[in-house]
Amino acid sequence: TEHLVSPHTQPSGQQQSNPFSLEGKLALVTGGGTGIGLEIARCMTVAGATVIITGRREAVLQEAVAELGEAAHYLTNDVNELDTLEDLVAQIEATYGPLDILVNNAGINMKKPALEVTDEDFNRIIHTNLNAVFALTRACAKRMVERQRGVIIMISSMAAYYGIDRVVAYAASKSAVEGMVKVLASELSKHNVRVNAIAPGFIETEMSRTAMNSDPDRRDRAMRRTPMGKFGQPSDIGHAAVFMASEAARYITGASLPVDGGNSIGF
Ligand code: NDP
Repeated sequence: TEHLVSPHTQPSGQQQSNPFSLEGKLALVTGGGTGIGLEIARCMTVAGATVIITGRREAVLQEAVAELGEAAHYLTNDVNELDTLEDLVAQIEATYGPLDILVNNAGINMKKPALEVTDEDFNRIIHTNLNAVFALTRACAKRMVERQRGVIIMISSMAAYYGIDRVVAYAASKSAVEGMVKVLASELSKHNVRVNAIAPGFIETEMSRTAMNSDPDRRDRAMRRTPMGKFGQPSDIGHAAVFMASEAARYITGASLPVDGGNSIGF
């Protein structure tokens, strides 16, 4: 039975700390100034982490940090500029210390029938949602591997699992990210670095609310496909991200967690 004894089994009598806590951890959340990223940052600071948010618009990030409080900081950065990402990570670590958590949340979408999507449209979406995710993950993971510790979370989408009309490039990018998660999880697991995806369903952000309100048919269709009969909130993704980043998820790697009110059983 010796092989069944886990190295992280607590010796009896030892005070068990809260496995969901992110106390003392440093996280980087891309696109953390708005929507889902902002709530991931908020939930992580509530769980005790220090969080660095990035994005292209300084005013948006400033406002977000003011709202999030002392444990949040920002750096303006465009993830599309792949050759800046190593420096970004170096700058963060020089200022704030070693990164424990990377959340690849920044992403873009565009709705067009597949046959109207140009090469330029396609490349733009793939570049932000896939190439940039890989480049930043590589920059962080090299350092995490050296330290033999780290957690990487990709914000994917149920568009990676299902055929949702008019998001051909977006679906391709998110499916590719899901594939990347499995390979990275496999390669990095021996270095104590976990890699997982969270796949949000219909989440109510300003952007999705405007889109749904302007198209009641779409809203009805989305509702019919959601067994729980309501849209998710950005904080639902935030709570899942805290769990995935925490010790509570220490045996989870290479997974994709749907947070979708049951879309994944109801299609
Ligand atoms: P938002 O548009 O509110 O958030 C996207 C964020 O990414 C913004 O803060 C934006 O900031 C940042 N961003 C975009 N491009 C870049 C870039 N080149 N460099 C740096 N930052 C960038 O949308 P959501 O919160 O809804 O989306 C967040 C993630 O969740 C995305 O990956 C999306 O695909 C995913 N998702 C969302 C769903 C939903 O229903 N809302 C459903 C499934 C997945 P700035 O423009 O200032 O750079």
